[in-house]
Amino acid sequence: MSKDSPRTVPVLVPTPVDRPFSYAVPEGAEVRPGSIVRVPIGPREVAAVVWDGAGENVDARRLRPISEVFDCPPLGEAARRFVDWVAAYTMTSPGMVARMFLRAPAAFEPEPPQPGLRYSGGEPERVTAARSRVLELARNGMAWTRSGLAHAAGVSLSVVDGLVAQDVFETVLLPPQPVVAKPDPDYAQPELTVDQEEAAGSLRERVRESAFSVTMIDGVTGSGKTETYFEAIGEAIRAGKQVLILMPEIALTQAFLERFHDRFGAKPAEWHSDVTPRMRERVWRQVAQGNVQVVAGARSSLFLPFDNLGLIVVDEEHDTAYKQEDRVFYNARDMAVVRGNIGQFPVILASATPSVETRVNAETGRYHSVALPTRYAEAVLPELKAIDMRRHPPARGGFLSPVLIQALRGALERGEQSLLFLNRRGYAPLTLCRVCGHRFQCPDCSSWLVEHRFRGQLVCHHCGHHEARPEACPECGTFDHLVACGPGIERIAEEAMEHFSDARIIVLSSDLVGGVKRLRLEFEAIAKGEADIVIGTQLVAKGHNFPGITVVGVVDADIGLANGDPRAAERTFQLLSQVTGRAGRAGGRSQGLIQTYQPDHPVMQALISGDAESFYQREIAERQRAAMPPFGRLAAIVVSAATRGEAEAHARALRRAAAPSDQISVLGPAEAPLALIAGRYRFRLLVHGTRRAGMQDYLRIMLEAAPRPRGSVRVQVDIDPQSFL
Ligand code: ADP
Ligand code: ZN
Repeated sequence: MSKDSPRTVPVLVPTPVDRPFSYAVPEGAEVRPGSIVRVPIGPREVAAVVWDGAGENVDARRLRPISEVFDCPPLGEAARRFVDWVAAYTMTSPGMVARMFLRAPAAFEPEPPQPGLRYSGGEPERVTAARSRVLELARNGMAWTRSGLAHAAGVSLSVVDGLVAQDVFETVLLPPQPVVAKPDPDYAQPELTVDQEEAAGSLRERVRESAFSVTMIDGVTGSGKTETYFEAIGEAIRAGKQVLILMPEIALTQAFLERFHDRFGAKPAEWHSDVTPRMRERVWRQVAQGNVQVVAGARSSLFLPFDNLGLIVVDEEHDTAYKQEDRVFYNARDMAVVRGNIGQFPVILASATPSVETRVNAETGRYHSVALPTRYAEAVLPELKAIDMRRHPPARGGFLSPVLIQALRGALERGEQSLLFLNRRGYAPLTLCRVCGHRFQCPDCSSWLVEHRFRGQLVCHHCGHHEARPEACPECGTFDHLVACGPGIERIAEEAMEHFSDARIIVLSSDLVGGVKRLRLEFEAIAKGEADIVIGTQLVAKGHNFPGITVVGVVDADIGLANGDPRAAERTFQLLSQVTGRAGRAGGRSQGLIQTYQPDHPVMQALISGDAESFYQREIAERQRAAMPPFGRLAAIVVSAATRGEAEAHARALRRAAAPSDQISVLGPAEAPLALIAGRYRFRLLVHGTRRAGMQDYLRIMLEAAPRPRGSVRVQVDIDPQSFL
């Protein structure tokens, strides 16, 4: 490099590129790996990260300088290695992974100081009781925010404003306020049961080792898993480490935040899509500065700029919500383990129904495990029964068996709550014309339109297309002969209302108008006993504690069993265990009733016998025989295009590009079960390898050997796929 050529550094820009680009470092600027900078790219400027390695020698005429180095803590080494690792594993570009770290652009600038008030010595003209309370506090000379002072004095803001108008205060600048107070590990010590204490002891030990380890907490619903992992969190807080708690539905689990507060005297910071942009910026910034010690968040919080992370807890580790299937396809549970390995700290995976993968890792000794086999205190698990729908069919046009209706009536008479679960939004999954047989299908997807009767619409659940439900069949023109086939929760609510016209019924799904705020209110109302019958989708199954529920009815237990997904049995078992586990959390007798046409199915048998163990052992043996994960590896390739022909042709070309291998076999292409989504035709290839197979290398070679996708063709690789649609 000649004396006058500028110093260059590699910079990773948030676009789908394989490697960092070189930029010139302006005179006097200080950058190092991890520095967050603004750089020009094409006609735009973007936030990007200075990467590791040396800058290249670039033709000085093409070299562009860094526009700005943000006054922001650099992304730590572990975070940078994590980006490279996730990119290589998921076969996405490092730029797109780094982009997930750069989601709060305004946070790269320091938080502006807040205006504050300090007592300046004057007296107001008139002293009221409220005013003197404020002055009493302010006289010690501390600076206050306007609202902080009003709150501490127990007066309204207008009292403080009145004093401001009288020049009693001088205006000062306050440092940025912390988004959450510091958690205190000894704020409230719970009395743990013997089992809990044993588990907690082993978790504390893992934290004290401050080395990489994974521990599975396998404990039935209500056994105190949360209580127990709080002890590990306390230990990490004591050691001055940052902690991340991943939760599948954090936006809806406000009760969890309260519990955390009860234990540690402060709430964790929240990170999910319902946090306001302003708050997200502050959380991001304060995590980077190390001022936020504990974050409870959705999967994307793995990409917060922690620099001192010492523990990750993945709650409900089996939950499918951890898999992101958009841009970067990753499983947050698995990537949490990777992050622990890179950062050399422990990871805790908690679930009442652990994934088969995690169970196997625990059995083979790769993971530690602790067990909590019984519910806390006098709460006993619900008594579970299958309702054989062939022997106790519902009345004509209905979906609830007389056995279930009887149980609901019993709960109503005793003044107890019940929950009806059906994992189907809307009124009916299919509408057809009784005269000509016409079925309403989405124009852009290969799926039926779901009737939403409250909204008066037919809706596609894959692309969002919706249309008004017509009076007449669009095919044959006959009026009043359209029929709704099958139930959704709206229809179950209608049926419940016919049977129990006086009951207070609440219907809950993601369709509820008013979003998360409204859902939270409904959850509170239920917890307070303001509903008799709750009818909901899986939204109500996840983690909520409704102490008054004593009867849980599963409307259609068979729904998830026949969909070609290799994990169908496991999924159904997990979901139904979780749903029925909502019953009886406050003690006393409770029951779970499972409507099924296959009462002898192993999943139903495992549920009602309570013998999860033999179910898992059979599932594990089955996976081992078929070399399915975790005994083998899977990757899915989805080829989509604007025409069926293009999609199929490219999928076939990919197949031909696959090299023969004794470790890996390629299946397909086959038309995807969802053959058309949002106007794009889809074909799938499934790549199956042995446990030791170098899956990513194999796929890379295959993709390179294949013709480049042209025109509307897109190729999407999904490592460890969860969805087979
Ligand atoms: P899980 O996470 O396994 O579902 P939780 O930790 O939520 O179980 O515990 C279930 C209920 O029992 C909660 O209401 C919790 O407060 C209570 N609980 C569990 N263990 C204890 C304990 N040692 N002391 C007091 N309450 C407890
Ligand atoms: Zn559609």
